[in-house]
Amino acid sequence: MTSLPESPAPVPKPWIAAIHPYAPGKSAGADGRPLIKLSANENPLGTSPAALAARGAAAEASRYPDPDSSELRAAIGAVHGIDPARIVMGTGSDELLNLAAQGYAGPGDAVVYVRYGFSVYDIAARRCGAEPVVAPDADYGTDVDALLALVNYRTRVVFLANPNNPTGGFLPRAELARLHAGLPADVLLVVDQAYAEYVAPEDDDGGLALAAAHDNVLVTRTFSKIYGLAGERVGWGTGAPGIVDTLNRIRGPFNVTATGQAMALAALGDQDFVTRAREHNASERARFVTALESLGNFGIRPLPSEANFVLIRFTGALSAEAAYNGLASAGYIVRWLPGQGLPDALRITIGTSPQMDEIAAVLRRLAEAA
Ligand SMILES: *Cc1c(COP(=O)(O)O)cnc(C)c1O
Repeated sequence: MTSLPESPAPVPKPWIAAIHPYAPGKSAGADGRPLIKLSANENPLGTSPAALAARGAAAEASRYPDPDSSELRAAIGAVHGIDPARIVMGTGSDELLNLAAQGYAGPGDAVVYVRYGFSVYDIAARRCGAEPVVAPDADYGTDVDALLALVNYRTRVVFLANPNNPTGGFLPRAELARLHAGLPADVLLVVDQAYAEYVAPEDDDGGLALAAAHDNVLVTRTFSKIYGLAGERVGWGTGAPGIVDTLNRIRGPFNVTATGQAMALAALGDQDFVTRAREHNASERARFVTALESLGNFGIRPLPSEANFVLIRFTGALSAEAAYNGLASAGYIVRWLPGQGLPDALRITIGTSPQMDEIAAVLRRLAEAA
């Protein structure tokens, strides 16, 4: 019998082999010592007590969860004024970002996003065999014209995080509207609002209104950040019925656990916790940025942030790498981003007030010694 030439092992598809795996925020130093983790934009206030109480009351582990997260979608709809039929749940918003790419793009298609955007967009594009197309930034911010200039007949999806991670930058409502208006009707605009609750309500970017009014906008949200439920993996998205239908066809049928549904529902009911977290973040971020600005003569430059972290560039004698190592020696793990084209920058999550004081003091000491 003749046989085809055989590979010694299964061969992954070439577009899968080209993926750089997502690099999660670390929580321990090189020597394994636990460090204070300000590398993953988690909530320093923890989780709402109401959500923690709901954890124990969740349905039995032997039972499958509600596949449609019906109660949770109804509650999200009530809080945001959205028809629950226009809401799709995800195993974190990460699942929805991947499904958006998979649902609308494939080999031969293009997926567009800005340089210094969220690293999941590259993975989401490659996973479905599409080509990632990266638009230049405007001084680390989103350049609407540069994005639109790269949109062509191959473009199927445009991703935008607003506020953006890792820069913290924010695209105002008029600019987001201009981006949407410049896209063909058959290009899906995904507005990733993982940090939207940190933005002052009067500065809302209008993403949810775009998703309510147009057939080509998906907004994604998460319980991982301000709601303090990163460990439970609950995200949601909203858009036109056709988009929600597409994502529902390809999501995992039981993609949000019973515990996740119960905790997210309770967290949603505790908006006081959300307000506290937003106010804590706004005041600590302002204090931290002021402290960093006093280090300007050492080449330490914070970028404007509307999120729960600050991206800091190190353009003087103290390098980002040396600052990263110095902070680790002082007990803090932050995010150094050479893999994302930012070898001169650290992203630091806003932690507690004493933590931010100590980090600013350590950076001053390191800069003075450099
Ligand atoms: C943290 C983050 C998310 C949230 O991911 P989950 O899967 O919901 O935990 C999404 N987008 C961006 C830009 C983020 O930084």
